[in-house]
Amino acid sequence: MSIVQSDAFADPVMGEPFLLTPGPLTTAYSVKQAMLRDWGSWDGDFRAMTRSMCEQLVALAGDTKGEFTCVPMQGSGSFCVEALLGSFVPRDGKVLVLANGAYGLRAAETMRYLGRAFTLIDKGDYMPPRSDEVAAALDADPAITHVIAIHCETSSGILNPIAEISEATYARGRKLLVDSMSAFGAIDLDVNTIRYEAMVSSANKCIEGVPGFGFVIARTSELEACKGNSHSLVLDVHAQWANMVKTGQWRYTPPTHVVAAFLEALRIHAAEGGVAGRGARYARNRDVMVGGMRELGFETLLKDRWLSPIIVTFFCPAHPNFVFTDFYELMKQKGFIIYPGKLTVVESFRVGCIGRMDEHIMHRVVDAAAQSLAEMGVDTAAPPAAAIAERARLAA
Ligand SMILES: *Cc1c(COP(=O)(O)O)cnc(C)c1O
Repeated sequence: MSIVQSDAFADPVMGEPFLLTPGPLTTAYSVKQAMLRDWGSWDGDFRAMTRSMCEQLVALAGDTKGEFTCVPMQGSGSFCVEALLGSFVPRDGKVLVLANGAYGLRAAETMRYLGRAFTLIDKGDYMPPRSDEVAAALDADPAITHVIAIHCETSSGILNPIAEISEATYARGRKLLVDSMSAFGAIDLDVNTIRYEAMVSSANKCIEGVPGFGFVIARTSELEACKGNSHSLVLDVHAQWANMVKTGQWRYTPPTHVVAAFLEALRIHAAEGGVAGRGARYARNRDVMVGGMRELGFETLLKDRWLSPIIVTFFCPAHPNFVFTDFYELMKQKGFIIYPGKLTVVESFRVGCIGRMDEHIMHRVVDAAAQSLAEMGVDTAAPPAAAIAERARLAA
């Protein structure tokens, strides 16, 4: 750490690149600074920090009636998804998994590890699961008790239609669980407008904290009914909650510094105008970045309608001089870390819109991409005709 930045959206620390990745992401200097102190996990000060964090998160979900509870859980986001599925789905339950990318498929894989029944709707990389498909699957199989949906499928950047999925689920008397890992804090998941039993997110996505824990926000009555469901000692959400109610403490060593950083991240989030303010900045980031990239000839995987303000997938250019690993290195030299693609069929890369960055930084990202292409001798970033044909075919 060489210099302290006062300019809110200046380069994070001298020499440190911006992370255009969907978490870990670029954090504010004050978030990093909040970690320069040690906390005793049993101490009253830290217990108050945990309590305050949980109260703020429940408020972010829009709960004004005191019907929801937040339970933090150590580990990365996937640990929390596993904790959610293992705790909220009874052992004799059955889950309809809605997948359109890597994270939906990971939820299905988690169910397989848990040894609990599930059915998978896999829409591939391009298309969201729609309410008529959910309705048909639920009508066809009365054994299904729960639906799990991915809010923003981070592998492509697609924003899934959670409201219509929720309606279809509850119209058929089933329960919805939501992986809102990469959306919560920037895209509304208000319990007053979208019905669900529990959702999961983590510290290092749209709240802009550092990695180390995730959290479940659940209807308290549903959480109470989870006792004894879990397959795992450490991932038992009910047990974690019961212990917190009793002692104010996490069951096992909490990531104390990460919690301290997260509280500072929550303070900044509120100062920015909460979910609406954060979402608006990310949408501007996306619009500036996508507009500039399109001018260079790049094309997005998705139609505008499904483009999230979280992360955007671009096809790799068809030009024979384009090599992704070279492009990555050239972008890194200019201060920007981009993200390889996660598509199954065509070559792609991703650019994140989240983290401590604004539209001015996004203009610099586009300039860096233009320069990198020039240095590679690539005069247009247009994708191969085959990628466009594949997109048209699959989206039809
Ligand atoms: C980030 C993310 C996860 C969790 O990934 P980890 O690498 O375990 O943190 C899960 N689901 C979605 C949609 C995500 O974006």
